[in-house]
Amino acid sequence: MDMADLGAQLAEVVGAAHALTGAAISADYAHDESLSFPAQAPACLVRPADAEQVAAVLKLAAAAGTPVTARGSGSGMCGAATPVPEGIVLSFERMNSIVDVDPVNFVAVVQPGVTLSELDEALAGHGLTYPVYPGELSATVGGTVATNAGGMRAVRYGVTRANVLGLQLALPDGELIRTGGPIAKCSTGYDLTQLVIGSEGTLALVTEATLKLHPRLPHQQTVLAPFTDLDEVIRAVPRILAAGLAPHILEYIDALTMAAITHTTNLTLGVPDQVRDTAQAYLVVALENRDADRLAEDVNAVAEMLAGDLGAMDAYVLDGPAAHKLIEAREKAFWTAKAAGAQEIIDVVVPRGAMPEFFATVRKLAQDTGSGAVGCGHAGDGNVHLAIFQADEQVRHELLHGIFAAGVAAGGAISGEHGIGREKKSHFQALENPAKLALMRRLKLAFDPDGVLNPGVLFD
Ligand SMILES: Cc1cc2nc3c(=O)[nH]c(=O)nc-3n(C[C@H](O)[C@H](O)[C@H](O)COP(=O)(O)OP(=O)(O)OC[C@H]3O[C@@H](n4cnc5c(N)ncnc54)[C@H](O)[C@@H]3O)c2cc1C
Repeated sequence: MDMADLGAQLAEVVGAAHALTGAAISADYAHDESLSFPAQAPACLVRPADAEQVAAVLKLAAAAGTPVTARGSGSGMCGAATPVPEGIVLSFERMNSIVDVDPVNFVAVVQPGVTLSELDEALAGHGLTYPVYPGELSATVGGTVATNAGGMRAVRYGVTRANVLGLQLALPDGELIRTGGPIAKCSTGYDLTQLVIGSEGTLALVTEATLKLHPRLPHQQTVLAPFTDLDEVIRAVPRILAAGLAPHILEYIDALTMAAITHTTNLTLGVPDQVRDTAQAYLVVALENRDADRLAEDVNAVAEMLAGDLGAMDAYVLDGPAAHKLIEAREKAFWTAKAAGAQEIIDVVVPRGAMPEFFATVRKLAQDTGSGAVGCGHAGDGNVHLAIFQADEQVRHELLHGIFAAGVAAGGAISGEHGIGREKKSHFQALENPAKLALMRRLKLAFDPDGVLNPGVLFD
């Protein structure tokens, strides 16, 4: 079937205003935020209004053998939402309702196109929170489920995987199913919810999500500690966690990245010049509590530990606005790196204890190839974010391969939260266990025998 015929059938399902082809499609739908995977315009864009329309679109696409790439906000970082040229982009932007907030079961039921900032705003009035806060709050619930997004608060609340109780899914053959639900536990067959989380739109499309909520604690404070050595920052992390202080943010920022993000956001943190000039890295520890006095006690304990036994040069308790700006600047580190000319952003995860050795390998690989590799990351999760500066594509590929291989050898994984997408596929296939890859391919075939959903992501 040619695209004109398919386009006409799709228009019957979603309405002519929401089935666009060719030049009528905005260039925004041709890419996500990957720095290295090129934009590719799709043949068709559809914007369904409900789950039934999503299922009907998939049925038509399967019959025509036309690829479908789901799209949330396009803030993904590895080309997973970049369509194939002959394919359909299925955008969830019209499916953006919060269906229910249930303060008894601590559950929200939402459509996939709801953004995290919209959800956060709606939950604030209930005194509740959905604790998945990646750096980009324009990300949608559907996109964060499909990438298993993490973010700064995962150290306390876990990543998306730990906060999704159930899904409604549109399968590639046009069936709709529900997995899990507003229930605290479920030992009833294979866990399809968890299988689809992180599958990057390759197994099924999320048409509704049931999310686990948490109380919204009213008091927060942030401590900033400069260190003369990045390894000491990393060694401080388990000591803070072992003290039972349960920070909700525990981030490291290397000195170059701190200089760049404070400069681009005009942020002054009250760190004296002589400290700033010798600091090699910073630890950011944010704590929250229902009670202001208890919080103050914990914050003092953290500051004393940091400036005492843990070897920080000092520990600064930031006032509200400065703390807020620092967290915001850290979230925007991606844009700062992009503006500075980084060719790639990666997010290898390793066991926390292996971070110093991993950093040493990265430094050596960067030096040997004449590249830059700097960044910040989720220290509490062993999730290292690196901005890579190396213009030569072949050298960059080899450098990335070396870094990913070192992460895997340390017992970690190529990506902790951004995913594999189209961008890191060759490294994923080269470094993963072949038997595991073969099983993943069989799972893909079981869900999507015609290979309609997001071909080229994870596998060719
Ligand atoms: C400045 C910045 C900071 C970031 N910080 C973080 C961070 O701290 N932690 C983190 O984890 N990520 C971070 N990200 C990456 C990004 O925000 C996440 O990957 C997010 O989950 C993507 O959501 P999205 O709605 O933009 O999805 P998209 O980019 O549109 O899509 C991502 C994937 O999900 C699939 N998809 C979308 N909707 C559905 C659906 N309904 N059903 C099935 N599949 C679907 C797409 O096909 C694609 O494979 C950051 C990005 C930026 C730009």
